Amino acid sequence: RTVYVNGEYLPEDQATISIFDRGFLMADGVYEVVSVLDGKLLDFEGHMVRLKRSLGELAMDNPLSDDEYLRAFRALVEKNAITDGLVYLQVTRGNPGDRDFAYPPAGTGPTVVMFTQSKPGLADAPAAKTGWKVISIEDARWARRDIKTVQLLYPSMAKMEAKARGVDDAWMVEDGLVTEGTSNNAYIVKNGTIVTRALSNDILHGITRAAVLRFAAEAQMQVEERSFTIAEAQDADEAFITSASAFVMPVVEIDGAAVGTGQVGPVATRLREIYLEESRKAAV
Ligand code: PLP
Repeated sequence: RTVYVNGEYLPEDQATISIFDRGFLMADGVYEVVSVLDGKLLDFEGHMVRLKRSLGELAMDNPLSDDEYLRAFRALVEKNAITDGLVYLQVTRGNPGDRDFAYPPAGTGPTVVMFTQSKPGLADAPAAKTGWKVISIEDARWARRDIKTVQLLYPSMAKMEAKARGVDDAWMVEDGLVTEGTSNNAYIVKNGTIVTRALSNDILHGITRAAVLRFAAEAQMQVEERSFTIAEAQDADEAFITSASAFVMPVVEIDGAAVGTGQVGPVATRLREIYLEESRKAAV
């Protein structure tokens, strides 16, 4: 693979980052994942907007313009001959040359890393026909989950717990209410109404969530932005998740209980189709 490090395109085994990089020592960095279908980037603008917001919340410099990110993403897609896959971007506060809790002085340039992941058939995941099974787990992440930081240890632990229990993912719960999946936003459908937690510092503001809610409104579907419990989700007609890499993925089981018929439902199926069709059309 050819990867990008601080303005250079290098073979992956020649790309290096300092052990003093604050991304490595302090998880002091933010990231984005953008999907690629037919060689084009989905929701690119939305990911740029969130990247700038995450950087701003952490008072971190943005080293590149949107146009420069776009050119670099496209260059990596081309150099790595990616038809379907992902582009990963991480920006850290850089390498001050030593370890200190205080932010480094101005002029310590950020570190920028980008790489691609080839995922042939990304939009044709067989699971979209059968749906995911999930477990629920206490949400023990930090309190600023709206910032897309690289502090991913807890979601990673939750994913491993889900795998150990033979399912696909975990929905995290705080004060009895579902926050989100380990790397996706969570939804239920009851009597035709789509329900998903409202935006706040408690969840990541999904770019796919924004697009899917827009398409749902355009298709005259009812949407309620409010929190829900696991019991309400188990009693719903359908459940699903959204993310840049899974698009719209049905959820058919939660903590061993079938959701609705236990089969993939019509609302999730339709939203997946609309999302893929509309975002492919707008892809850059
Ligand atoms: N929630 C969390 C915790 C995530 O990590 C992600 C993506 O990684 C999402 C939601 C979905 O966001 P997006 O649709 O922008 O991929």
